[in-house]
Amino acid sequence: MPTNLTDKLRTLAANLFWTWHPEIIGVFRDLDPELWRQVNFSPVAFLRALPADEIDRRSLILNLESRINFAYHRQVEYLRAEHTWARYHAGPLNVRPVAYFSAEFGIHESLPIYSGGLGVLSGDHLKSASDLGVPLVGVGLLYHQGYFRQTLTADGWQQEEYGFMPIDDLPLQPALDEKGRVVEVSIDLPTGRLGARVWRAEIGRATLLLLDSDVSSNSAQDRELTARLYGGDRRIRIRQELILGFGGLRALRACGFDPGCYHLNEGHSAFVTLERVRERVENDGYSFDDACRDVALHTVFTTHTPVEAGHDRFAPDLFDEHLGWLRDRLGVSREQLLGLGRVNPGDPGEPFCMTVAALRLSRSANAVSALHGHVSRRMWNRLWPNRDERLVPIGHVTNGVHIASWLSPSMAKVYERHVGDRWIHRLCHRDAWEGIAKTRDLELWEAHLYEKHKLVEFVRQRLAAQEARRAPHDPSAPAKAARLLSRNALTIGFARRYATYKRATLLFRDLDRLARLLGDKARPVQIIYAGKAHPQDDGGKRLIQHIVQLSRDPRFHGKVVFVEDYDLGVGRHLVQGVDVWLNNPVKPLEACGTSGMKVTLNGGLNLSILDGWWAEAYDGANGFAIGAGDVHAKAEVQEERDANSLYEVLEKTIVPMYFKRNVEDVAVDWVARMKNAITSMAWRFNSDRMVMDYMLQCYLPACGGLSTQMK
Ligand SMILES: *Cc1c(COP(=O)(O)O)cnc(C)c1O
Repeated sequence: MPTNLTDKLRTLAANLFWTWHPEIIGVFRDLDPELWRQVNFSPVAFLRALPADEIDRRSLILNLESRINFAYHRQVEYLRAEHTWARYHAGPLNVRPVAYFSAEFGIHESLPIYSGGLGVLSGDHLKSASDLGVPLVGVGLLYHQGYFRQTLTADGWQQEEYGFMPIDDLPLQPALDEKGRVVEVSIDLPTGRLGARVWRAEIGRATLLLLDSDVSSNSAQDRELTARLYGGDRRIRIRQELILGFGGLRALRACGFDPGCYHLNEGHSAFVTLERVRERVENDGYSFDDACRDVALHTVFTTHTPVEAGHDRFAPDLFDEHLGWLRDRLGVSREQLLGLGRVNPGDPGEPFCMTVAALRLSRSANAVSALHGHVSRRMWNRLWPNRDERLVPIGHVTNGVHIASWLSPSMAKVYERHVGDRWIHRLCHRDAWEGIAKTRDLELWEAHLYEKHKLVEFVRQRLAAQEARRAPHDPSAPAKAARLLSRNALTIGFARRYATYKRATLLFRDLDRLARLLGDKARPVQIIYAGKAHPQDDGGKRLIQHIVQLSRDPRFHGKVVFVEDYDLGVGRHLVQGVDVWLNNPVKPLEACGTSGMKVTLNGGLNLSILDGWWAEAYDGANGFAIGAGDVHAKAEVQEERDANSLYEVLEKTIVPMYFKRNVEDVAVDWVARMKNAITSMAWRFNSDRMVMDYMLQCYLPACGGLSTQMK
C-alpha cells in the first residue's frame, strides 16, 4: 500500500485506467500544466520528470493532496469491485479469460500503437471489458516508432515522421512468468530464431501483452521488425504477423494465461490459429483435421472491411519461405496448409489470405454492422459455394465506442444531472436516457456551445503552431492563424483516415456552390478537416493536398482548415465540439464507422451516407442522411448524386435549422434533434453493449458455456 503522494501517483500512472478518469488527468495537469503538455500527456513520463519532493511541495501549495487520495482510492475500489456485470454473465469465462488479438490498440495518444478506427475499437473494447469485469487479455505488438507523425510541406504534401518512444516513458512493465522471471518468447524465421520481449500494460482490470522484437540477441534487421505499424513491405508484414500470432500465443502461455476463447480482431492475427493447431497435433496427438476443428471451436473472428486491400494476402512463395517448416510438424502437404488460406485450396497460384484462414479456423465470424454483415456474406459466399448467401456463417456485432473516453466534461455534467449520477452503470438501458428528452433546451445548447468554443480555440492554436513550423521567419504567421475560424459559424468536422473510398473532398465537387454555402455572412459555415493518409497511398495524400490548397483560396480562407497529425487527442477535441460530423464514403465500403458515434454522445449531429452504422442508426429525426441509401452501378453517377444530395441537405435543411433561433438565441429545432440523437443512439452504440453482445453471442459459446449452432 503506497502511503506517500508520489507512490500513489505512480500507482495511478501505471494503469491506463487514468485515460478515462478525468479526476486523475486533472491532478497531473494541475501539478504542472506546462510539463503535462511537454510529455504529451503521459503520466509515466511526467513522474520521471518531476522529483518527489517537488510533487510534495506543489501538492501542498495547490491543495492537491485530497484530490490525489480521492483518485487513488477510486482506482483501488474499481480494481477490487466484485459485483461486476461479468460476475453474473460471463460464466466459465470468469476463470479462463478471453484472449483478444489485434495488430493495433488505440488507448491513448501517448501510446501511439494504432492508426485508425480498428485500433481505437480495440482500445475501447479493452476499456469496456474492464468496466464490465470481463476477464480479457489483449495481445498486440509494441511498435517502438509507433505510427507516423504527420506534417505537411508548404504545398500540402504529407510527410511522415517516425519518432522513437523511450520505453521508460510508457506505462509498460516487463511481463513475468509464474516464477517471476522476465518472459521472452521466440519464433522461427527463415533467417533463424527471433526473440521477442513481452511487455504488460494494465487497462483497468484488463491486461494487454505487447510483443517487441527489439532484443539484443536479434540481428539488427530483426530488431527493427516491430518498429513501425504498417510501415514495411510484405516480408516485414508477414513477419510481424508471425510474431503476433505464434509469438502472441507463446507469450500468453509463458505468462500463465489459459484462455477459454480466442478473439481475432481482424485477420492480421490469424496465425495464432496455426500455432494452436500445432500444439494440438504435437502435444495432444490430434490429427490435423481434428486439431483444426478443435481450434475453430474456441475461436471467434471479426472481419472489419469490405475493401479488398484491407485483407492481407501473402504469395505462396512468401508463405512457404516462412511457414514451410510447419508442414512436417503437422504432417500435411503444402497444398493442405496453403489451402487453409485459399478460397480454392487446389489453386496453386492463389495467395494465402489471412481473412480466409480466419474464417476457416473460427467457429463464428462476425461483421461490424448489420449492413456490413450482408456485404460480408456476399463477399465470402465463395467459401461456401453450396450455400445460399443468407446461410453464410457470418453474423454481425455492431461496433460501439467507450463513452467515458469520448465524452466532454460539459456533457458529462448534463448526463449526471439528467440521466442520473449512476449513468455510467446504466449506459445500455434505453430508459435511462429518457431524462435527456426533458433537459431544458438552453442547458443542452450551452453545454454544447462551451465545448464548441473550446474546439475553435484548440484548432486555432494548432493552426498557429503549424504556421510557426512552416514559416519560422514570418513573425506574423501565428497571429494570422489565430484569427482563422469563427465561434458562431456552423462548424462541420471531417476527420478520419484518408482512404480514397472515404471521399474527403466530395464537398469540393462544385466549388461555386460550396463558396456560396460557406460565404453567407448571415449564416456562416466552416469545415475542420484532419486525418492521415497511409504512407504508401498517394491518392489519399492528394486529397489532403487538395484541401490545403483550397484552404488558401480567398473564398475559403479561414473557413476551410486542415489540422495536422490527427490522433486520439485531436479526435477527442473534434468530436466533442463540432455541430455536424460529415461522413461520405462510397457505400457500402464503410463497414461500420465509429467516429460519428463519439459525436452523437457529445450532442453533435451526424450528416452521413446511409452506410455502416448510420444505416441502422438513422431514424429520420436523429441526424441527417445524404441520399436515400441506394447505390448506382456507375461510380461516377453515384458520386454526382451523393454530392448533390449533400449540398441540398446542407442548404435546405441543416443551415436553416441551425440558424433558426428563439428569443434566448437557442436553435430549438436543432436541440430537439440533439436530444433525439442521444436518446435513440447512446444506449446502443457504446462499447459496453458491444462487449456484452460479444460475450453472449460469441465468447460464451466459444468457451463451451452455451451451445449454439455450428457452421
Ligand atoms: C474514432 C476514430 C477513428 C475511426 O473513425 P471512422 O469514422 O470510423 O473512420 C479513426 N481515428 C481516430 C483517431 C479515431 O478516434
